[in-house]
Amino acid sequence: MTVPKNNYKFETRTIHAGSAPDPSTGARNTPIFQTTAYTFDSTDHAASLFNLQNFGFIYSRLGNPTVSVLEERMSNLENGRAAVACSTGHAAQLLALHPLMEPGDKILASRNLYGGSITQFSHAFKRFGWGVDFVDATNINNIKKILNNKHKCIFIESLSNPGGVILDIEKIAVIANKAKIPLIVDNTMASPYLIKPFEWGADIITHSLTKFVGGHGNSMGGIVIESGKFDWFLSEKYPSMTKPTESYHGLIFAETFGDFGYSMKLRADSLRDLGSTLSPTNAFYFINGLETLHLRMERHCKNALKVAKFLEQHKKVLWVSYAGLKNSKYHNLAKKYMSKGVGPVFTFGLKGGDEAGKKIINQVKIFSHVANVGDTRSLILHPASTTHNQLSDKQKIAAGAGPEVIRLSIGIEHHKDLITDLKYALANI
Ligand SMILES: *Cc1c(COP(=O)(O)O)cnc(C)c1O
Repeated sequence: MTVPKNNYKFETRTIHAGSAPDPSTGARNTPIFQTTAYTFDSTDHAASLFNLQNFGFIYSRLGNPTVSVLEERMSNLENGRAAVACSTGHAAQLLALHPLMEPGDKILASRNLYGGSITQFSHAFKRFGWGVDFVDATNINNIKKILNNKHKCIFIESLSNPGGVILDIEKIAVIANKAKIPLIVDNTMASPYLIKPFEWGADIITHSLTKFVGGHGNSMGGIVIESGKFDWFLSEKYPSMTKPTESYHGLIFAETFGDFGYSMKLRADSLRDLGSTLSPTNAFYFINGLETLHLRMERHCKNALKVAKFLEQHKKVLWVSYAGLKNSKYHNLAKKYMSKGVGPVFTFGLKGGDEAGKKIINQVKIFSHVANVGDTRSLILHPASTTHNQLSDKQKIAAGAGPEVIRLSIGIEHHKDLITDLKYALANI
């Protein structure tokens, strides 16, 4: 028995959606289907699979039963229509854009993005002939001013890494909708537990599964999810969706597959040709990670608020940027979008700038000094010299990663131990 889509509460779906006991063995947990290929019933069956006239597994670059469970579960948790998993969060961003973009096209992106995304967009994508305009999307008038006919999508983070900026997704979705272009939301930092971008009008969601979905800092992965609601035929802007595809005998993806045409295009065309497939073993880790997503996020958020409150009153701390604090300028947006908590990642500014920042990192015992977020363990980082190192000084400050900034990703340890750890480290600088 498979669980009917979206009939159960989120907490139940994190555990059951998309999976069922294995029919051939009765295995209750989703097995790791560590196989490259799948036997065909007949030559006709094989041909129908290759022509996309029938659904089934062909070759694991294109799809795998373990990966499929993860795709179905993530799509379900985001209240989406369909999803395609891939090897990393960055691969997901490339995959998501691939069906939309032609050389000479542009993306309109929020400037408050993960440092790696800013680099990916402004350097690697440029060499495909894909341009990017970055905009301060905290004021939607900036988007309205810059948006033009060359932009094939708007790309934002629901909750930005590391600045903790919450954007008004609903209003940005209205702008994208009017321009007849999809709004793509990187929902990595919020996870579907804290924000559901489709409910606010987003069309496509990307995730780095590496972070909260996996949750234990053990695997890399990414995913693209579609809402199924974007009408590709509204304009002439997306020929790869609305015009015949040569490599599939003239198939028109948006016509043949309707509300999951984009996912089919992603899989049958982009994933097939770009090759950034997720391994079944990593999919297994993500499926297992998802089963405790709701519990972990709840504890992550509770701990983070306690640590943020401690830092806020500390005399060596200049400021704490956490939307969970009343003085945050994102507090009202947090109330609108994040009623369950504002996540465990936040930044604070230390008196003494760069030097003090390095000292605290060298003093802490429980916090690990790593370039990651969303682990069960508490993590600490100096973004300016690490994740955002490749940006210019101006870009660093714009992305909330100036020299005095320390980023924390609060884990699910006991909050008192975390506070004690920071208290001693702060005393020693
Ligand atoms: C980590 C991260 C990415 C990139 O994901 P990888 O799995 O490291 O490729 C993209 N966006 C955000 C918000 C991230 O935190």
